Amino acid sequence: MIALAAPEQGAESLFDGEGGEPMLDEVLAGVWEGLTAHRPAACPVCGERMHPEYGAHARPIGGRCEGCGSTLS
Ligand SMILES: [Zn+2]
Repeated sequence: MIALAAPEQGAESLFDGEGGEPMLDEVLAGVWEGLTAHRPAACPVCGERMHPEYGAHARPIGGRCEGCGSTLS
């Protein structure tokens, strides 16, 4: 399961949108796809670049936005 954690109010517009939940899943899946491909993806909250974060292994364990600081895991 992909979870997005947005530290700022910017996420509200995303989550409050009418009928936005299925879309959100698609957006997050797309972002995650980019991160696992080892390339920056567009942050679903602010549109800035989201960089993959690595743990002990080569595969990204999550992502962090350089714009708003949202994290994806
Ligand atoms: Zn962002």
